[in-house]
This record gives sequence, C-alpha cells and structure tokens, in this order.
Amino acid sequence: MSRPVNYGELYRAGKKILEQADIGEAALDARLLLESVCRTNRNDLLVHGDREVEPEKEKTYLTFIEKRASHMPLQYITGVQEFMGLEFTVNEKVLIPRQDTEILVEEVLRDLHDGSRILDMCTGSGCILISLLHYSNDCQGTGADISGDALCVARENAARILAGKKDDTVARFVESDLFERVEGRFDILVSNPPYIRSAVIPELAEEVRGNEPILALDGAEDGLLFYRRIIKQGKEHLCGGGRLFFEIGYDQGVAVKGMMEEAGYADVRIVKDFSGLDRVVYGRYEVRE
Ligand code: GLN
Repeated sequence: MSRPVNYGELYRAGKKILEQADIGEAALDARLLLESVCRTNRNDLLVHGDREVEPEKEKTYLTFIEKRASHMPLQYITGVQEFMGLEFTVNEKVLIPRQDTEILVEEVLRDLHDGSRILDMCTGSGCILISLLHYSNDCQGTGADISGDALCVARENAARILAGKKDDTVARFVESDLFERVEGRFDILVSNPPYIRSAVIPELAEEVRGNEPILALDGAEDGLLFYRRIIKQGKEHLCGGGRLFFEIGYDQGVAVKGMMEEAGYADVRIVKDFSGLDRVVYGRYEVRE
C-alpha cells in the first residue's frame, strides 16, 4: 500500500487475511491486534476509522496479523492475558491463563486466611499464586515450576502486580521438579498441573498444540501422573488441617477424588464450573496418630 493507510482500511485488510487463514474469530482478533498496536479502543475504530496510521505501526500490525494467521494465539502476540481482573504478561514459555482456572482461585480464596502459607505447584505464569496474594493480606506464597523460563515470567508478573501492596505479602519462586527443591509445610497447596492425556495432544487446536508448552499440558498416558505425585508428596508439605486444591479435566473428578480419599485426605469435594462440568477437586490433609 503506497498511500497513507487509515485504521479502517488496515483493520479490513487484517480481517481478510485472518479469514483466509481460517481463524475463527477473524474480525475480533483483527480489531484486538489493531488496538494492541495503535493503543486505540473499539470506539476509535468506529468513530475515527479514517485516521491515518503511521507506517511503523502499519508494519507492526501486519507482522502481528501474519503471526495470528499462522495460528499463534493472540495472547502470545500481544504478550498479555487478563486473569482475575489482573493483567499478566505471557510468552511461549508459559501456558496462557484460562478463565476456567478462575474457579480454582475463587475456591481457594474462600479458604484463605490472612497470613496463610501457600504453595502453587506448576505455577507457570504465576497467575494462580499472584491472584491469591493480590486478593489477600500478609500471605507467604511459593510458586514452584520445573521451567526456569516460566519462572522468569512469573517473577516479572509478581513484581509488577504485587508492587502496590502495603502489607507483608511475600512471593518467592523456586525452580523445582515438583517438590524436589521445595522446603517447609504450607496451609494451602494449589495446583493446575498438566492433565491432558498424551494421546489427545495431537487432537488439540493448532493454537494450543503448536504453540503452548507441551510440558505444561501433557499429563502422561492417563493424564493423572501429576495428580498421583502431588497427592502423595503433598502430604509431606501440608500442615495438619491444610488443604490441597486441584484444577482437573472435566472427566477426571471421580478419579482424582478417589485418589485423594485413598491417600487419606478428608472431606474431598468436587466443584463444577459454570458449564456444569467438574473443574476443581479439594480436600483436607489430616495428620493421623
Ligand atoms: N499455573 C499455571 C496456570 O494455571 C500454569 C499451569 C501449567 O503450566 N500446567 O495457568
């Protein structure tokens, strides 16, 4: 395009490229990417569609559109995802925080007291731990993950999101294969572990399968590997009366509940999400004499 391009033209060009690439939400994504590049809002596009776009921004927008056309998730292109009303930085080293996971955070929040010690196992972007710390006071949080690259993202999110807190909140992160380098006991152990059966991974959407870290998705043959390990080893890291909370796949509720009961956890419950599907399992660790 040799003549100056305006918002409207650029948006329509982007939308067309995404439609041709079979991107489901072509119009929405073309608009959100324009907003991300030009720092505009929906209103600017509607009311000021004839405003000229600087050549640099046009170039960046078309690069973003190309990435989206190749099925890179929008959030990896814009670098952000909103979760629990907070803005998290994301990149390809972390799973994109899902809205479903807010159910897990809300369940934990019901149980959280000021000053609690929280361990978030497989913290990824840190979205669970940081949200819990943001919406409480004086809690001490530890986020563990096997990926050092993920922890860089989590640390950055914690520093920015928790910066304004005036209480004694503590967030620390540890690179650890599950509990290997985790010390001490906690009141709350929360985890959204990788839980997809290995055989199902090739069937996932290209956005997920080709872009998100497999390490954060693959729960081995039956999808339950990490639940098994965390349920067992978690007992060495929970205080008596402490609680274990998991996010689960819609068809894993009964299995995970059974595993927790067998391991001696009490009052094990399954919580459904807003679609009526099993989404969270939690229970209490009781120290037996
Ligand atoms: N705890 C992070 C999240 O819920 C990452 C989970 C994971 O990597 N499996 O988004």
